[in-house]
Amino acid sequence: MRKLFAYSYFIGDPEQQRQFFAEGHPVVILTQAFGLIAWLCAVGLLLALGGNGHAQALLGAPGMLISLLMTVRARSLTQLIVTGVLGALTTAVAFRLFVDQCAQPVFWVLPIGVAMALAAAPVFSGLVNYIGTAVAIWLILAWGNFPSAPGQLDFYLALVAVGGSLFIGIYLNIYFLTLRVRNFRARKELTTLAFKDSVTGLNNRRKFTLDARAAQQLHPELHFLMIDIDDFKKINDTLGHDAGDEVLKKTAAVIGRLSAGHLCGRLGGEEFGVVFRGDLAAACAFAERLLHEVRAAHLPVRTVSIGIAEFDKQADLSVSYRHADQALYSAKHAGKNCYIVGSPQRALT
Ligand code: GH3
Ligand code: MG
Ligand code: MG
Repeated sequence: MRKLFAYSYFIGDPEQQRQFFAEGHPVVILTQAFGLIAWLCAVGLLLALGGNGHAQALLGAPGMLISLLMTVRARSLTQLIVTGVLGALTTAVAFRLFVDQCAQPVFWVLPIGVAMALAAAPVFSGLVNYIGTAVAIWLILAWGNFPSAPGQLDFYLALVAVGGSLFIGIYLNIYFLTLRVRNFRARKELTTLAFKDSVTGLNNRRKFTLDARAAQQLHPELHFLMIDIDDFKKINDTLGHDAGDEVLKKTAAVIGRLSAGHLCGRLGGEEFGVVFRGDLAAACAFAERLLHEVRAAHLPVRTVSIGIAEFDKQADLSVSYRHADQALYSAKHAGKNCYIVGSPQRALT
């Protein structure tokens, strides 16, 4: 039932809507443009062969053009759905005005209706939008213009054609929506795999470096903290690799929690990085808190050492990285479980 509802009316989260819009926008523009070109060819032939009622047939052009322009200018999925519906309806009206000028209007209802109902199927994300639009297309084309009358074979065969086009259209609509949802999920999963560290769930080094480079230009005052778990090799050697992983995860959880609003990631092994938004005093207070919270999170107590460096805005990221690494090296030599600010200041807990 829930699945049926999901197919009936698509309301994805904002990220999903953005991707659906990006994928669907060119498709809706092309479909509407194709309808307009087909209509221009049909009207051109009508004019060339000297048919009557040209003015009435040409009345369809403004609606199609305006809705196509609105689709080109659409900037969200909701706008695209509205302009897509408008495009389908104005195209149906234009073809109806054209068909009414033909020698045998009834003959054209079925081929044009089937083509339009099927062309609209991949365009709409959701059955309600699609079925509503397809039914409206058929009503506009066939109202007072349906082949034959009830009781005659042609009437029922025409109904089968209408029903068949709707049935295949619904199938295509569900199929394309399923493909889009699968594509979205696969992309999201790949992004997660490419940017997240699988053990700790923090940003991996690649993502951390990318975001740190972006932050370098955006924020006026930044500090770079390099955090390393003390005596980690000993934990692995005495308690095993799994116990080592647990210490990694717990430490990462503390870093992730305290770094909300800042950027953090696992740089590799038992080493983490934080790009802290704030001045040196705030960065030191943050480091102090981090030392305390890491100690409090583990039983038996585990500790970390931290190197702090001012984030150099002019130089490459590797320069700040090296300064923080040197400060971290000093912290290890100062006895671990402390933080050191890259010269000239130095602080111990
Ligand atoms: P120090 O206090 O000076 O930092 O010493 P340390 O033992 O923490 O540092 P060292 O660089 O000597 O050892 C780091 C160890 O971390 C070695 C490596 O096997 C281990 N390691 C790296 N990645 C992982 C991991 O994903 N899981 C586990 N369990 N161990 C890891
Ligand atoms: Mg270590
Ligand atoms: Mg290390």
